[in-house]
Amino acid sequence: MAGDLKKRKPRDIVYEQDLKVEWRDGIVSHFPFVALRDSCPCASCVDELTGRKVLDKSSIPTDIYIKKADYVGNYAIRIDWSDGHDTGIYSFRFLRDLFDMAAAKGFPTGGPFARES
Ligand SMILES: [Zn+2]
Repeated sequence: MAGDLKKRKPRDIVYEQDLKVEWRDGIVSHFPFVALRDSCPCASCVDELTGRKVLDKSSIPTDIYIKKADYVGNYAIRIDWSDGHDTGIYSFRFLRDLFDMAAAKGFPTGGPFARES
């Protein structure tokens, strides 16, 4: 699965209008900020024991944006959101899984994670 692992490493990450990740296999994925914030996997957004989401999507400002993003080792990024939330660590595997799941559903209209066309 070495090839698969490599595929899950980004070539480039840019955050402007959304979080744009260019993967080493050539896929370019876009993660809108609200959807990405809503997917935050940290312990205050998702109950660690039950895996149930605690975060209420309606509490996310619609104009939320990324103030800062830092690499965590070589496997993840930690996002500092404009709403003050900064404990979310998004691993590259997690981001790629979000994208692959959306892709498997054919990027439903209005869906959060689109492929660049
Ligand atoms: Zn969180």
